[in-house]
Amino acid sequence: MTNKKQYNDEKLGVWIDDKMYVASFCGICQEVVITYDPQQVHSLRRFNEGERVPVCKTCFQKWNKIHRLDKGLQPILFNEKAYVDEQKVSK
Ligand SMILES: [Zn+2]
Repeated sequence: MTNKKQYNDEKLGVWIDDKMYVASFCGICQEVVITYDPQQVHSLRRFNEGERVPVCKTCFQKWNKIHRLDKGLQPILFNEKAYVDEQKVSK
């Protein structure tokens, strides 16, 4: 048994201006709800394994720092168009 955090991966389809978006918790921090275009959203693997999960801007930028900037690589540009908004979730 591993002592991994429980993740809530529930997803909700949302129609905005005749376009289908998806709303879910950020797959990494689980602290914000992100609404995104599932075709364009940034996604990462938890602990570098399993399927890719959609991530919020904060988590994406942390990944960018660790895996790109700190290694002397160009950062990957954040795709603002993939996201509708972010909402802090009070827990
Ligand atoms: Zn996050």
